[in-house]
Amino acid sequence: MAAQETVDHKYVYDFSEGNKDLKDLLGGKGANLAEMTNLGLPVPPGFTITTEACQAYLATGREPDGLAGQIEAHLESLERAMGKRLGDPRDPLLVSVRSGAKFSMPGMMETVLNVGLNDQSVVGLSAQAGGTGDPAASGGAAGQAASGGADRFAWDSYRRLIQMFGKTVCEVPGEEFEHALDEIKSAKGTQNDLDLDADDLRGLVDAYKKIFLKHTGREFPQQPREQLDLAIRAVFESWNAERAVLYRRQERIPADLGTAVNVVTMVFGNLGPDSGTGVAFTRDPASGAQGIYGDYLANAQGEDVVAGIRNTVPLQELAQLDRASYDELLGIMARLEEHYRDLCDIEFTIERGKLWMLQTRVGKRTAAAAFVIAGQLVDEGLIDLDEALHRVNGAQLAQLMFPRFQLDHEFQPVATGIGASPGAASGTVVFTSARAVELAAEGRSVILVRRETNPDDLNGMIAAKGILTSRGGKTSHAAVVARGMGKTCVSGADAIDVNVPAKRFTVAGQTVDEGDMVSIDGTTGKVYLGEVPVMPSEVVQYFEGSLDPEHIDNPLVRAVHRIMTHADGKRRLAVRTNADTGADAARARRFGAEGIGLCRTEHMFLGDRRELVERLILARAPGEREEALAALLPLQRADFEEIFREMDGLPVTVRLIDPPLHEFLPPLEQLAVNVAVAQERGEDVAKEEALLAAVRRMHEENPMLGLRGVRLGLVIPGLFAMQVRAIAEAAVSCARGGGVAKPEIMVPLVGAVQELETVRAEAEKIIAEVVGDSGVEVLIGTMIEVPRAALTAGQIAEAAQFFSFGTNDLTQMGWGFSRDDVEGAFFWRYLELGIFGISPFESIDRDGVGRLVRIAAEEGRAARPGLKLGVCGEHGGDPDSVHFFHEVGLDYVSCSPFRVPVARLEAGRAVVETGGSDSR
Ligand code: PEP
Ligand code: MG
Repeated sequence: MAAQETVDHKYVYDFSEGNKDLKDLLGGKGANLAEMTNLGLPVPPGFTITTEACQAYLATGREPDGLAGQIEAHLESLERAMGKRLGDPRDPLLVSVRSGAKFSMPGMMETVLNVGLNDQSVVGLSAQAGGTGDPAASGGAAGQAASGGADRFAWDSYRRLIQMFGKTVCEVPGEEFEHALDEIKSAKGTQNDLDLDADDLRGLVDAYKKIFLKHTGREFPQQPREQLDLAIRAVFESWNAERAVLYRRQERIPADLGTAVNVVTMVFGNLGPDSGTGVAFTRDPASGAQGIYGDYLANAQGEDVVAGIRNTVPLQELAQLDRASYDELLGIMARLEEHYRDLCDIEFTIERGKLWMLQTRVGKRTAAAAFVIAGQLVDEGLIDLDEALHRVNGAQLAQLMFPRFQLDHEFQPVATGIGASPGAASGTVVFTSARAVELAAEGRSVILVRRETNPDDLNGMIAAKGILTSRGGKTSHAAVVARGMGKTCVSGADAIDVNVPAKRFTVAGQTVDEGDMVSIDGTTGKVYLGEVPVMPSEVVQYFEGSLDPEHIDNPLVRAVHRIMTHADGKRRLAVRTNADTGADAARARRFGAEGIGLCRTEHMFLGDRRELVERLILARAPGEREEALAALLPLQRADFEEIFREMDGLPVTVRLIDPPLHEFLPPLEQLAVNVAVAQERGEDVAKEEALLAAVRRMHEENPMLGLRGVRLGLVIPGLFAMQVRAIAEAAVSCARGGGVAKPEIMVPLVGAVQELETVRAEAEKIIAEVVGDSGVEVLIGTMIEVPRAALTAGQIAEAAQFFSFGTNDLTQMGWGFSRDDVEGAFFWRYLELGIFGISPFESIDRDGVGRLVRIAAEEGRAARPGLKLGVCGEHGGDPDSVHFFHEVGLDYVSCSPFRVPVARLEAGRAVVETGGSDSR
């Protein structure tokens, strides 16, 4: 950059020059102080040094050219406006130096108050406040009430400056100051700062100056401009303080934004009983209820409120203490709400009966308050429904749909794993599926605890209230299945050592036996010993249809109903569900699902049917295989009939069997032991030996890349044919019963069009034969979950009536990440390094995997115009991913039943946020 440009660059803005939309440049605090100034509200005059100045300082280690002069000029106009000068021994101007980044980083960065005080101006400050500046003249403690007094006030202000400046600017250990203060208090026999009089505080100033000298090797700076420059520099540098860096990483705030610095005329809430300071919200940030919420502390400065040294009183009490200020404050709050059209939070100070606004911003709120407030603002005509939809999000809705723990300090977590499926569940610990079923049948709540789960645990998982595993990530079996069931799950809690044979686990030096109580929070991943009380979700009750939103006296349910109705009217994406039982299908339909996007058929091969699958696998002759398939056919048909019934009139995508068949056989080790033991006893082991041989034969080093999906259909004669027949027969039987079945047969793991063509040719023959003139139409399509399929989508579309993106496998194969292993194994490091900000299994990786989706969608539709496109991987229920799928132009997303409302909401938001007004 040319030198001339640098010199001319504007780094300092008076409050009257900015506005609320300049947060990038002025930070949140500066932009809002400017906005309030321009609204004519009583803001102490001041100016903001921009984030660009901070960025330049951090890049070069020195203030950019021109900054010092601009500060000087703004300081002069501030002095003119206030009729006071910085450092004036008779009537000094004092300023605060406050950080303020674009995004709020509470408590992360620095503030220095009372800049401008020194050995002379402290006397002037006291005189201006009505005192003498000389503690001796004021008669010390005897001559003055401990809580009042101008001298006391001035010396207290000075000691605060040295303390804050020492700590913030010169890294003097804060405890040293605390210690000196404690010493004076204990010498005086008190624990309350307010009992210290001017004499004590002057003594404290001396003590603080000595501490400052000891640690810095220099006297406390007496030049106000030097104090100011050093404080500004310290605020710049606090951007890179360890805690700020950590906070930013956690909150995903970019590291290069820098902070602005606000230099604000000091106003004092500690000038006596007619002064004070407080915080307020224009509505309750917890519930959204209208009213006045806030705290007030008389005769205090802001940091006293935060430090909790004295108890605040509810803001309403200010009405008794200072009616005029109270009324003015209420008027300002109403004005701010109307101006920002949102809940605002506010910091204010009253100096001798004069109200000053020190900060405002659109306030943080709970998920429930977000919905309630958005609804109220629509009622009040401040925002429209599009804006209301924009102001809530799917993550908040998801939070409202889970039961919650009523936690108090009695409960401390003993371990933290991955919050794999949200919710809160308490129950008796069990270690086996069988025991879970047994105790649940007695009406007990159980938590199934396993190292990791597998398809054999399904009955136990259905019976359990929650699932806790010590291994596995967000896409582990436990996590995916639990999410599908809407069941609470904490996975990968590796502090827990699970010993299934001994029926116990150990954690944090404690042993938990079967039968003990444990509580798990699937949102935070926290595990508690004992039973934490749980509350049900009213929002779920509403979605379930057990609450009528029009007649219920519950503002949250009413707001959710209203905003959801609007989202449904707006959205272009349809929302289907992933469900493979009638019960799940029925629930998802109540939650608003418009069909099934993925019915996985593998669970239909477990339980009692395992024996038939074993026969199928072990069949030597075609006759034996056909017999096993013939026995499976009516069972499958009944499965599909149930699902078609529940989804009457809506499309149901059934995926042909996907996992490798050896997953249905017992584990190798267990079989080997069984065979050895039986042989020892002289028993007939022919069957077990055959099984063992089959397991050995079918063993795969990389089963995810092995004999699964469409490959099974091409290798095992009759398997897919049986499923296709069962689907078609169930649809016909449904139609004959007066229902409308709309089956869509989906072939998994296709990588080449020839695979699909082969399966399709056989399927079409069977369908034609079964369907006859019943009027049933069966579509045949494919999953796009292998990168090659995405890249050859144009060819594949020739043979497919629809595509459904299997983004779980597409992510697994796109990144080369084993979906069951990596999240627990090393994702923490990837997140720490910022390689990605969120697991690509959770939210679609737009640049890589997303690109594959985009290519396949474009090339698929180019080859077959109007090709129906959906997504059925876990991403179908992830808020950010839903926006991506909207952008790419898919027709629907499909997700687990509990995510259906989230996807509906986000699909509506996607339209509003892209500025569209299209409704379906
Ligand atoms: C997928 O891969 O995204 C998918 C939906 O299939 P599954 O999770 O059953 O492999
Ligand atoms: Mg898959």
